[in-house]
Amino acid sequence: MSSLPAERSPGDPRPRAERHGSEVTVAGWRCRDCAHPVTQPVLRCPACRGEVDETTFASEGEVWASTCLRVRVPGHEPPFAVAYVVLDGGPRVLVHTGVTPLAPGTRARVVDVTPDGDLVAEQIEEVV
Ligand SMILES: [Zn+2]
Repeated sequence: MSSLPAERSPGDPRPRAERHGSEVTVAGWRCRDCAHPVTQPVLRCPACRGEVDETTFASEGEVWASTCLRVRVPGHEPPFAVAYVVLDGGPRVLVHTGVTPLAPGTRARVVDVTPDGDLVAEQIEEVV
């Protein structure tokens, strides 16, 4: 098990991701009292101030929103698509999805982490 990437700059909003063989899991914290999921280091739950425990979240979830970016962003060649995916029982995370945005409601799975620490997800099911 290894954390990717090894070093993150302070204030980097991306969650930690860990690769286990071919599986990628998103790591974070969950409140002991209200189960609120958090991807950023916290001492107390931001929802209820309860104590939090480190945890990993499901790698699958549902697309909340997605778009294709056609502007230049450091480290990314446009066009590229990003989506917010609400992980099952977990937090909403920003993922890269290639060049095609995914429709809201689409099921997606985090399948990789780039060397820079971006989560990469693929569609696993069409919206019905
Ligand atoms: Zn809480």
